[in-house]
Formats: sequence, structure tokens, C-alpha cells
Amino acid sequence: MKYLVNGLLAAVAVVAIGCGKTEAPETATADIFSFANTTQFVTRHLHLDLDVDFEAQALRGSATLQLERLDDDASRIVLDTRDLDIADVSFLVDGGRRVDTRHSLGDRDDKLGAPLTVEVPTELAGETLLSLRIGYGTRPESTALMWLPARLTAGGEHPLVFSQSQSIHARSWVPLQDTPAVRITYSATIRTPQELVAVMSADNDPDAERDGEFSFEMPQPIPSYLLAIAVGNLGFAELGDRTGVYTEPELLEESAWEFADTQAMLESAEAMFGPYQWGRYDILILPPSFPYGGMENPRLSFLTPSLIAGDRSLVAVVAHELAHSWSGNLVTNATWRDIWLNEGWTTYLEYRLMQEVFGMERAEEENVINYEELLDNFERIDPKYQGLAPKTALGDPDYAQGIIPYHKGNLFLQYLEQSFGREVFDAFITQYFDAHAWEVITSEQFLDYLDTELLSADPGKVSRAKAEQWLYEPRLPEDAIIPRAATLEQAGQLAVLWSSGEIDIDRLPADDWSPHATIHFIDNLAADLPADKLADIDAALGLSDTRNAEIARTWFTQVAARGYRPAYGQLGRYLKRYGRARLIVPIYAALAGNGEDEELARELFAAARENYHPQTVGFIESTLERSD
Ligand SMILES: [Zn+2]
Repeated sequence: MKYLVNGLLAAVAVVAIGCGKTEAPETATADIFSFANTTQFVTRHLHLDLDVDFEAQALRGSATLQLERLDDDASRIVLDTRDLDIADVSFLVDGGRRVDTRHSLGDRDDKLGAPLTVEVPTELAGETLLSLRIGYGTRPESTALMWLPARLTAGGEHPLVFSQSQSIHARSWVPLQDTPAVRITYSATIRTPQELVAVMSADNDPDAERDGEFSFEMPQPIPSYLLAIAVGNLGFAELGDRTGVYTEPELLEESAWEFADTQAMLESAEAMFGPYQWGRYDILILPPSFPYGGMENPRLSFLTPSLIAGDRSLVAVVAHELAHSWSGNLVTNATWRDIWLNEGWTTYLEYRLMQEVFGMERAEEENVINYEELLDNFERIDPKYQGLAPKTALGDPDYAQGIIPYHKGNLFLQYLEQSFGREVFDAFITQYFDAHAWEVITSEQFLDYLDTELLSADPGKVSRAKAEQWLYEPRLPEDAIIPRAATLEQAGQLAVLWSSGEIDIDRLPADDWSPHATIHFIDNLAADLPADKLADIDAALGLSDTRNAEIARTWFTQVAARGYRPAYGQLGRYLKRYGRARLIVPIYAALAGNGEDEELARELFAAARENYHPQTVGFIESTLERSD
């Protein structure tokens, strides 16, 4: 995923959101975010048969799970659900005969949902392989699904729905064992309104006929958080022989231009990390309410349209989602406490891909911006969550650690690369992916593997104690590599000089700046800059009207923190346009925290709320609650 939210919120969420189970995991692999009894039964395959009902904002039909009984004495299957209406539960035997059974839904926990317990009938007592069919429907309040009315789409004529299952939201559209520790293959039959197209994290067919029914196969086993669906008026454009883009027809041309480098990224990634194991790599550009930058749904990354900047400057997110095809989707974190193994590795691979495809200068600029966000997170997030693999149970898997697993994980891997040399480390990368393909891994298993294969193989470079410091201690070790980019340093110095009146505005070489340099400039403006100087810089750089969503995010966060009212009109429009949490949560937090505009923050939220995904709504509510 890219990204979760920023540290402003992460600090809030840890205290504000309770979790049903708060004690630390008993074993390294226990998943405190799932009710499923996966040591007794494990799912091997899932078949979905669903009708997409836009009017009722519901998916309705059945999920059939092929389960393997691991414990002969076990007679109850516990699945994860949240806000599902369970209609009927039965086992399928003898080629389709139904054996009804008893089931019960437990108490609903706000974060985890409700366990669905199914009794295995005595008739099936000796069976190892079970086929469990659950007839069910979702509710409009599903935390995974966003039902967009036509007016919130680019075309404005057809509704659209999309899912976001990570971290623990798959259970709000499918009853299943919702833990990354279990990998399943899946198949699906999806019925849609005749004029629409369904796509999934599976074998999409760009030429599929629009006849109201779509079939999917996902032959590679995936964890539940990678289950994904979208239905809308979607077109397709080829980007390369194995890559393409799906989006609404209105966005197709500009999307194909913006993401034209996708095929080159795929080829570079294969050259560096080993073969791409998933067949095609396509991307889906969603409407602006998509809550994240991107989601690495296998074969089909879901992306925010806020990446369409018109200058290809924000495509690092595509590199990131593509890299997840190795780190995350192929080798998966065993629990959400090990998420750095997904996100830290992926952020490092993204950094390497950006070097390869766009050059060192740009990769280093992005590295510096990420590092600065990391420092910001260190100030805001409880130190007990600042290790890569905290020994304390996380309050919430979606945001307890902010961006720490991403950028601290990236710096750990850069540190290893520099210590052992690129050639040795690159061999380690492909060996690691190869050795753990299609498996899950905990931080402690990784540490042992790292120790055996890299640290001990070449002693005296990095000790196991040093690696443990990265994993378990807050902040960064003293010998961490501090990212630097001369272009950003220059922009930062110019911000200081211009703020203090030492140089004129027309001497700023803004035309030569990358978007990242502009962001750095804004972030380095003096805290006490008077309103007339803010007006000057806004006019000179066109900040309030920029098409680049990252520059706008940085600028409007400053506008809100400084209470610079002349730009509030554009700020309000920006908050309404995007539902991507990273882009808007810091602005709400800055408004609510500037001492004057808490009420305004609530009003703007009320006006924009219907444009946001339920997960974004949750993030903002936590932020605004905190300022009570
Ligand atoms: Zn990610």
C-alpha cells in the first residue's frame, strides 16, 4: 500500500482506537487481528458468486471455501466477518448436495468485526477436506467497499464500486480467514449491470464482453488482503506487451500518457529482483475517493488519480505497487506487526527502480522527502511503535506505526546494501525472494535468515545486535545513512534566504525545480512568514492552483497551519476533490490544530464527507476527535 496516513494521525489513532485484543501475541505468528482458528482449519481455495447491486449498495450471493482440517478433533470453524448479513450456511458434499449446519455470529468488536462460528456436522466427522458454502450479503457500511454514485465518477453517468481489503477489511465483503498467514487461490463469477465492467485481482481479460457476467481465476495463492474487485464503466489501454491501464474512458488518454513507463519498470524490476510471477501487470486508475496512493492488488494495482500530475512526477507509486509483486505479494508478512517486511522492502525496491528508470538525482530527492516524513513520524509516534517490529501489540494495523515501516525499513536495507556492497546485496535479494516465494515470514524468521545468509557469511560488517537495534529500538541507529540531495538542499537554503528578505522572489530558479524541490522549498519557509509574503510566493509559484497533488498537499498543510485565509477557498476545493488520506488528513489536522479553525475543519469535513471512502472518514474522525 502507499501510503497509510501521516504521523499526525498515527499518533492519534494509537490512543483513540481500542482493539478487542490488546495483549501481545503469544507466539511470533499469532495474528491478534483475526478470530480464525487457522491451526485447526486452513482455507485452500475460495469461490465467490456475487451479484453487484448498486441500488442497495450490496454484494449478494455466496462464498464457498475449500478448507483443510489440520486437527482431527476440531469440529468448529471460526471465520472473520464484519457487518455481513449471513443468510445460510451449509457444507457441500457428493458433487453439490447441501448438508445444513448450525452457525452463530459472535459479538461485534468495533475493529475486528464478529466471529462466525460454524459447526462441522457429525456426518462429516472423518473428512479432511471440507467445502463450506455461505450465502450472504454485504451492507452499505462495509469498510472495504466504496459505492460511488455516478456524479462522483469522471464520466458522471455510471456508478462505480471498488474494494480496499488491506489490512483487515476483506472480512467486510467476504466471510473468510482474514489473516495474511493464510494463502488461498480463488475464482469468481460476478454479475453486474449490463453496461458495466468488473475487474478483480485475477486474470482480467481486456476484451471481455459487456454481457453482465464476468468470470475470474486467480491460480496463484494470495493472502486475503489482496482480494480485490472494482465495477464501473471501465475502458482499457495497452501500455506494453504485458502491461495496460484500466480506467473510465474520460481518464484513459491522460492515464496512458502519465503511466507510459510501466512496461519499462516491469522489465527493470525483473532484471533486478528475478522473474515476475503473476502473468500480466495492469493498473486501475480509480476515482479521486480512493483512500490510498495505490494498492498492490496482484495483477492489477489500484491507483489514485491524484498521481496524474501531467508531468509523470508522481509515478514512484507505480514503482512501489509493482515492487510489491515481490515483497508482499510473493513473500508476505506473517502478521501486521511484521508489515515492514512488506512495506520497508517495497520502499527500498521502489528506490532502486526509480534509480534505474529515472536516474539517481530523482531517486535521491524522493529518498530525502521520505526521510523527512520519517523524522516527522518519530516526533509524533509513541517510541514503543518505532521499532520495525515492535514487541508491543499494535492498537490498529492500519496506522499504529505511521510510515515508519516504509521509510525506516528502506533505510535499514540501504544500510545493508552499503555495508555489503550492491553486488552482494543484490544476490541476497533474489535469493531471499526465491527461498520464501509463496510463503509468509515473521521479522524473527527474517532476522535468522539474514544472519545466516548475509551477516555471518561476511563477519565484521554488520552484527546481529545491530540488526536487532533496527528491528526493536526507536528512531534510527547512529550510523544510519542520512539521505541527501543537493538540489533539495539548494531549494531549502533559498527558502530561508527568501523568507528573511535576503533575495528577491524573481531570483528564485523555480522553473528549474523538480516538484520535489518545490515541496522542499515550501517546507522550509520561515514559520513567522507574514501574509503578504505568502501571497507573493503563492502567486509566483502558482501553488494554490497547482495540478500536482503532492505540491498542493504540502502547500495547503502550510496554509492551514498558518491560518492563511486567502487560500482557504482553494484549500476547501482540494479537500472535496481528493479522498486519498495522505493528501487530506494532514490538512484537516493542521486546520483543527491552528487554534482558530477547528469548527471550520468540521464544516469542511461535513461538506466533503460523502466523497470519501469509509476508511478515510475513519482517519479524519480520529484526527478531529483528538482536537476535542
Ligand atoms: Zn506498499
